[in-house]
Amino acid sequence: MKRIVVKVGTHVISEYMRMAKLCEFLAELMQKYEVIFVTSGAIAVGVENSNVEKKGVINRQILAGIGQPFLMAKYNEILAKFGIKTAQILLTAQDFDSRKRTKHLNDLIDGLCEHKILPVINENDAVGIDEIIVGDNDRLSAYVAHFCGADMLVLLSDIDGYYTGDPKRDENAKIRPFVSEITAQEFEVNADAGTQFGTGGILTKLKAANFLLGNGKMMFLASGFDLGVAREFLLENRQTGGTLFKGN
Ligand code: ADP
Repeated sequence: MKRIVVKVGTHVISEYMRMAKLCEFLAELMQKYEVIFVTSGAIAVGVENSNVEKKGVINRQILAGIGQPFLMAKYNEILAKFGIKTAQILLTAQDFDSRKRTKHLNDLIDGLCEHKILPVINENDAVGIDEIIVGDNDRLSAYVAHFCGADMLVLLSDIDGYYTGDPKRDENAKIRPFVSEITAQEFEVNADAGTQFGTGGILTKLKAANFLLGNGKMMFLASGFDLGVAREFLLENRQTGGTLFKGN
């Protein structure tokens, strides 16, 4: 069975119905693939479940600590309907520091896949200070994909692909269905967009793609709001949208 990593952003799971649809999709995928799931959202769920303000490093750590179990509880509740059990794995950059550590992680993932238990991974933001974190789940998922022998990373985002410009600001921006390499200029353009408008979202995706392309792996970026394209791509081998990052 092929192994894939599926990563979802906070915006996608901010509504219960979307989360339910996502879980149903994960259940379908588990029929065909060994699935490793990476989810953001602990801090947002922490905000929902406490009076702690989302300000400053310690408060964010506290919110991540509060939110993570609530996030898992939501996933467990929905996934149980499909007979799926989960195992939470919280990582920081240190877990990718050495071959010994990545082997430990890989062994754990192998074991979970054998038992058909869904690994649910997030960055361990409760102990996450700058020096030890990856910093975004796009790259974290790319590392997981590479070190845990996945063939592909699937990013389910609030955007349905990689465009020639930021579609929120450039109405002429066109989706790029295939990307085989990311140029230095693309990194530059998107780094600027990130600092100027606070939309660093695409930059971390490009970094994730770049890392995977460099390691001979693929990445597929598609909408997490409408799962149709991802479903067709992963279950029917048809690409009707999204962006496939794949080397030549
Ligand atoms: P996620 O839902 O995965 O957390 P983000 O919101 O962090 O995603 O990042 C996606 C955002 O990046 C999009 O909503 C879009 O506004 C912005 N963006 C900037 N430049 C581009 C681009 N060239 N192509 C696609 N999206 C872009």
